[in-house]
Parts: sequence; structure tokens; C-alpha cells
Amino acid sequence: MAPHELSRDSLLVALGRPQGAGDALAPALTPTSTYRAGGALNYARDGNPGWGDLETVIGALEGGDAVAFSSGMAAAAAVLETLPAGALVAVSRVAYHGVHVLLREREAAGRLRTRTIDTLDAAAAEAACDGAALLWIETPTNPLIGVADIAALSAAAHSHGAAVIVDSTLATPLRQQPLDAGADLVLHSATKFIGGHSDLLLGVVVTHEAERVEALVHRRQTDGSVPGVLEAFLALRGVRTLAVRLERAERTAGELARRLAVHPAVALVRYPGLPDDPGHGLAARQMSGFGAMLAFETVGDADTADRVCEGVELITHATSLGGVDTLLERRARYAAEREAGTPPTLIRVSVGIEDAEDLWRDLERALDSAVAS
Ligand SMILES: *Cc1c(COP(=O)(O)O)cnc(C)c1O
Repeated sequence: MAPHELSRDSLLVALGRPQGAGDALAPALTPTSTYRAGGALNYARDGNPGWGDLETVIGALEGGDAVAFSSGMAAAAAVLETLPAGALVAVSRVAYHGVHVLLREREAAGRLRTRTIDTLDAAAAEAACDGAALLWIETPTNPLIGVADIAALSAAAHSHGAAVIVDSTLATPLRQQPLDAGADLVLHSATKFIGGHSDLLLGVVVTHEAERVEALVHRRQTDGSVPGVLEAFLALRGVRTLAVRLERAERTAGELARRLAVHPAVALVRYPGLPDDPGHGLAARQMSGFGAMLAFETVGDADTADRVCEGVELITHATSLGGVDTLLERRARYAAEREAGTPPTLIRVSVGIEDAEDLWRDLERALDSAVAS
């Protein structure tokens, strides 16, 4: 069957595989720093067959051409380096901290200008795009799981001549299609849901504009921000199961969010799947599911929240997200998050694929003992 006849859930299993008679089903791992002269590739920074297989899959899921990088941050840096000197970047106030650091450093060096905007307020964001070369959106946002309107923001940015990039890491390529909604570029930290097993770093940018693809490939080749061969292999292996992992984790996230919302040790839950969440209506229109990330604020103070994080046993107290294992952390333990205004008792949870009842018993026990002590 032709790829256009298949759903995304089938594409991520079927694409990026050798197709010849007698070929192995799994792509080969090709560790090499150089290639024999006379072929398409000369040196390992030019490319590796394993990156190509992964790019085929992610590109098909997002509806564009994908370029893989050594990490999500390397991908973000490459996008910024394609901008002309002095370009203005309008960036969401709530975006991945590392992206803010990249921008701040380039601003300090006189390389780029930045303007911080509230992308959850589409009208205010529109005015803020005036004069910008690029609008940087993240949705859902990290760590507050807010939802920004990709179509409205893209239309607003385009009316000012600004290109739009969406960091879609939390949504995964299965829960929203930023390019269809009008964005020009999509970024994924494949370290998270795409890899899915907390065992690699990798980033991907997808776009349907050939010129941008060329510029990004040039950056990767020149800066050397190339994915590791094993990492690309593992990310491709990971993405094969994304649909089932996400379905399970998302169902559990919804269940945990509902139970947390009525637990006496919880002051507030942020999950767009809850009907009274501020992002619910928009997420219901923009996304095909509410994702596997949630956050909640405990009653009490930061110590109470820390006791919850230290009290869980099945759940792991660690940063990062998108893996099969459920992780949680109090985000304001980082100075940068405190400065960004993250509530002191906010605990972000990346829901994995363990049994939902086991996860709830673990969380409930930690919450109960955190408020009892
Ligand atoms: C983790 C993350 C990144 C950075 O990706 P790395 O692979 O860690 O370099 C960027 N954006 C979001 C939303 C992330 O969660």
C-alpha cells in the first residue's frame, strides 16, 4: 500500500525499512567515519543510512522533510543559526529553558534580537510578531502544560512576514500536526517520546521547504551536530511503538489527573484533558489526544512537594520525560525555573506505561505521607 493510504500508526511501523528480497527487516547499524570514494556520501558528517531511515519516518508523520540532529538543543541551535545576523526572534515566555538560553546568548553577542511574548494570548502575540523573522512557539508548554493556538499564531506571524517554528515535543508527531496548521518548522526532542526509553539524545526538525532543509543539513554538516549512529538506530526502534506507548500513557495520565484533582494534598492540576483546564477547549480542537504530561501543585510549601518527590517508589524522581518509565520532579528546584515564575510546589509528571493502579497507589501513598509528616 502507498504511504498516503496509511494512517500515522501504520507509517511509523512500515517506513524506513530495507525493501529488497533477502534484506534484513531491521535497518543495518552502520558505524563509520568515512565512505569509499565515488558514492553519494564521502564523510560521516555528510550522512548515515540510519539517520535517513529515521528521517523518513518522522518526516512522513509530520508531513514534511525531517533533518535529525545530535539532540533537541542541537536542532534548536541549528534553526537559530540559519537566521540572518540581527534577525528578531519572538519567543514564547514559556518555552524550554535551553532555548531561552540559546537566544539570550545570541542576543548578548549581538547575533540575534529577541522579544518574549505570551503565546497563550493570541491577540497580544500578533502585535509582538511585528518585525520578527521567526516566531518560536512551544505547545503544549513545559512545565505548565499550557496550550497555544498554532493556526491563529501562524496566521498572525505570517501576516507580519515571520516564519513559525513549533516545538511539538510534548505532543509527539501523533497528537498534533503543526505544519498542517500553518507552521513552517516543527521541532522534536526525540530524546523524549520518539525515542521513548530514556536511553538516548536526539533531535529532529521537519519542514516542507526545500531551502530550509538544505540550510539545516548544511548546519549539521558544518557544525558537526550529527546524530550518533546507535542513537538514530535506537530512536527508530523506539518510534515503532510510539502509538501504543502513547495511547497507554495518555489514558493513565487522564486517570491520574482526575484522581489528583480530588486528592486533599493537591491544590491544582494542570492537564488539558480535564474539562475545566484552561487549555481544554483549544487542545480538544488542535490535538487528537491530550498527551502523557501533567503537572500538579501540592498544598503546603516546597518541602511538602519535595517529600512527594522523595516518597515515590515505583515512579522515579528524575528530570526528562517521554519514556516508558513514569518520572516526576519539582521543577522549581532549578533556579532558572524559579526565576521564570514556576510555582514552588509544582510537580511535573511524565506518565509512562506502568500499570495505572500501581502508579496511583504509589502517588497516593507519597502524597498522604507528605502531608502527614
Ligand atoms: C528536552 C527538550 C528539548 C531539548 O532537547 P534535548 O534532546 O534534551 O537536547 C527541547 N524542547 C523540549 C520541549 C524538551 O522537552
